Amino acid sequence: MEKETDKNTFYSHDLPSTKMDTKVMAKRDEKIQVAMIGLCGCWGCTLSFLDIDERIIGLLEKVAITRSSLTDIKRIPKRCKIAFVEGGVANEENIETLEHFRENCDIMISVGACAVWGGVPAMRNDVSLKDCLTEAYVCNVGAVTGDKPVIPYHKDLPRITNKVYPCHEVVKMDYFIPGCPPDGDAIFKVLDDLANGREVNLPTSLTRYD
Ligand code: SF4
Repeated sequence: MEKETDKNTFYSHDLPSTKMDTKVMAKRDEKIQVAMIGLCGCWGCTLSFLDIDERIIGLLEKVAITRSSLTDIKRIPKRCKIAFVEGGVANEENIETLEHFRENCDIMISVGACAVWGGVPAMRNDVSLKDCLTEAYVCNVGAVTGDKPVIPYHKDLPRITNKVYPCHEVVKMDYFIPGCPPDGDAIFKVLDDLANGREVNLPTSLTRYD
């Protein structure tokens, strides 16, 4: 049985004072604000970001991650200096999100083949949207059998665009990191350059895949 004293110990953490919160928040606000978003991609580029590993600890002295693909915050709460964008544009929600990022971020970076030129999702650009959806939901051997297969529709689902677009065809993008996914070292190099006020210099050794 749990002893009363154990319970008290468990509940007796010192909560940070409001004064402390304000100080921490103020320090955080002084840093370079960085945001990330995933559009039409597979999250592989986001995982590559995590390959920065412990090097991010040094950078966190200078940058604060305001919004990331790993959280469920839909909008950027405050103006950001740098934004990393994974994925291309494949529906109206992607367009809205990308435009929101452009309005609220100084430097926009396309990360990975999907953001840079559409990537794998853009393979559907060779056929009409109708044919693509029919193949996926009606003719596909994996289509649900029994009831007549239908293409899913609901008014709350974002409308799919006729083509998949690279980000720079929707808004201005400032930098491009190629790869599927880019190497974590390449993402780190770009972030490190920008965080330290250097001109971005991505050597080909970090962007070669042969
Ligand atoms: S570029 Fe490759 S890894 Fe990145 S989101 Fe697209 S498919 Fe995934």
